Amino acid sequence: MASIYDRGADDAFRQALSEARQAALTAQDLVEVTCPHPDCGRTATAPTPDAGREITVTRSAALVGEYEKVHCPAGHKVFVHYCKTP
Ligand SMILES: [Zn+2]
Repeated sequence: MASIYDRGADDAFRQALSEARQAALTAQDLVEVTCPHPDCGRTATAPTPDAGREITVTRSAALVGEYEKVHCPAGHKVFVHYCKTP
């Protein structure tokens, strides 16, 4: 009996899911950042940086400049700094 499992369809589904997720993030102007706390590594979302700025993620507001304070799913404070790119 032939297997009904279609590997190609499964990959296509995963790809579509990934694209839909990315589109949802883009629509909300959010980017995913990885929690910097040790042994965490969960992802949180932060506003997308403006052109000419890049994101630096830290555990404290040590850097000067603009930042957003967000929380990862584990409740850690995550400071997302928007640094001007040189
Ligand atoms: Zn965390």
